[in-house]
Amino acid sequence: MPPLKLRHGIATSGRRTPEGNRLVGGVPNSNHLDGSSMDYDGPDLNALLAEVRGLPGVRKAFIHKGHVHTDGEGWNAPYYGARGTTGLKR
Ligand SMILES: [Zn+2]
Repeated sequence: MPPLKLRHGIATSGRRTPEGNRLVGGVPNSNHLDGSSMDYDGPDLNALLAEVRGLPGVRKAFIHKGHVHTDGEGWNAPYYGARGTTGLKR
């Protein structure tokens, strides 16, 4: 599972429900839907990006709309995020 806290930032979005993904403006085939993506935010996005690129299993990481989006191999990201988990039955 990818970390929720890093030295240079914190997770802002993990796995999403389809409804939550729509609410946050995710693309319909978003990798957030199957838990293979995480978003992170922090005060220095370039430092955060460099740190995220060192995580085990990372396939891809880039700065997107003011945060760092990342996809990982074999990740099982938890449902995470304020609106992205809308409709989730807990
Ligand atoms: Zn993302």
